[in-house]
Amino acid sequence: MTVAREPVTPLEDVMLIVSGDRAAVEADLAAGRLLCPRCRVGVLGGWGCSRLREVRSGLGVRRLRPRRGRCRERSCRATHVLLPDVCMAGRRYVAEVIGAALLSAGREGYRRAGERLGVPGETVRDWRRRFRSRAEQIAGHFLRWARALDGSLDPPPGQWSHVVDAVEAIGVCTRVASLLFGRRAPWSWVSALTAGGLLAINTSTPWPVPE
Ligand SMILES: [Zn+2]
Repeated sequence: MTVAREPVTPLEDVMLIVSGDRAAVEADLAAGRLLCPRCRVGVLGGWGCSRLREVRSGLGVRRLRPRRGRCRERSCRATHVLLPDVCMAGRRYVAEVIGAALLSAGREGYRRAGERLGVPGETVRDWRRRFRSRAEQIAGHFLRWARALDGSLDPPPGQWSHVVDAVEAIGVCTRVASLLFGRRAPWSWVSALTAGGLLAINTSTPWPVPE
């Protein structure tokens, strides 16, 4: 029997998006509920903390030092940064601010949105470009997740633009996820379901797929 080889990610700095509630993360680590995203066989145990980072939200700057986890599987032993779901990987703004900038794209120019959200206009423009360039993929990804979570779901009809489809798919999927698993802010779901990589152009680590 041949087994399709999974793309193997580097040993360090693989992101795993976890709950924003630190106590819940500790409980998940202790109970072995966090599956290793590298080998998908082992579970993660606690492994110190990652570097301090700053993320900006509408309320100001928040400093956080994410927990690290290490795979208990002998053949893997990969370490992972357990990034809280209010963040997206490699972004210095919280997911909610990024989401607000993306949602207002049709109504508000990037400079104006940036002023309102306290983000440099060029940053908003960059986020929107990245989202636009992958909108079709993003729409497909969230529809697959929505259908995996709720098989009875009728897919929303395709619109005139991939960006609109992507926003619609995100809305449908995050509503279903919140109904099934408990409320979580929509853009936190987006981060969780893309391993923090919604806006990553180069996905060396593939987005998690529904099974
Ligand atoms: Zn592993």
